[in-house]
Amino acid sequence: MDLHTITTVLRPSGADEVQTWADGHAWLAGGTWLFSEPQVHTDTLIDLEGFGWEPLKVSDAGLEIAATCRIVQLDNFKAPPDWVAAGLIPRCCRSFLASYKIWNEATVGGNLVMSLPAGPMISLTSALEGVCTLWSRDGTERRLPVAEFVTGDNRNALRPGELVRSIHLPLAALRKPFAFRRFTLTNLGRSEALLIGTRDPDDAAILLTVTAATLRPYQFRFPAGVSNAEVRNALDGAIADDRYLDDTHGSPRHRKHLTYLFAEQIRAELGV
Ligand SMILES: Cc1cc2nc3c(=O)[nH]c(=O)nc-3n(C[C@H](O)[C@H](O)[C@H](O)COP(=O)(O)OP(=O)(O)OC[C@H]3O[C@@H](n4cnc5c(N)ncnc54)[C@H](O)[C@@H]3O)c2cc1C
Repeated sequence: MDLHTITTVLRPSGADEVQTWADGHAWLAGGTWLFSEPQVHTDTLIDLEGFGWEPLKVSDAGLEIAATCRIVQLDNFKAPPDWVAAGLIPRCCRSFLASYKIWNEATVGGNLVMSLPAGPMISLTSALEGVCTLWSRDGTERRLPVAEFVTGDNRNALRPGELVRSIHLPLAALRKPFAFRRFTLTNLGRSEALLIGTRDPDDAAILLTVTAATLRPYQFRFPAGVSNAEVRNALDGAIADDRYLDDTHGSPRHRKHLTYLFAEQIRAELGV
């Protein structure tokens, strides 16, 4: 799409070259959303491509995903054999609406910043206890768990001019067994509910992450042997009925039903 309000496109080679920030500026990553509809409040695009960040870095501490890592690069990643939770990567990469159309351009960071309930990179990185590194214009940086970064439908903790630099997935989370459940109303449709559970190999505690059904991610930590009633109570207590998303891809009532159903399935699958 031609963006008729854009008057300037900047291609810096590093964040320090972007000294000023104004309303109307936007970071450009894959552009799959930016170029998909008119951006009437945007006049300047600042392309992140020239920053040249290495897409994926494996270390003893886990996996560092650059914000500019494209979905296709993440999907092609060959994880070490003991990273059993890496099995979530292809599942989540295939959880975009019409995945194949945007895979080659859309980025992990762009997906987080869009902060749509059905953002599958939000599902993946929050379930794997990801922590984002955020860079501000004054050179400072801060870290925030992905589950706290996304605060609502299309809302997040980014401040004006701030940049998502990377997402760190800790080694311990990557080694956990997992259970994955997703529902869409149509084939290749937008996720109506996407729930992921992981189990700590040491104490069998379960981390349950609810996404897509709700306006933002919700996370629950349960001890080994948690009962279905306890899981239901936790969901009841944390997610009010008006926190379930209402749009053409699913009603709040159906999303709530799926959330409880999948949570119970995950509890049973991961329970020991
Ligand atoms: C056919 C189609 C299907 C889609 N399906 C889905 C779907 O199922 N789920 C979903 O969540 N989205 C979906 N989208 C929306 C969008 O394409 C994705 O969210 C995608 O991951 C956005 O990434 P991008 O790199 O293309 O972001 P861009 O379009 O480049 O940017 C999106 C927003 O994020 C900001 N931004 C990007 N990177 C950064 C950064 N590192 N730091 C700070 N701000 C940044 C931009 O300024 C902009 O506001 C779909 C879009 C299309 C066209």
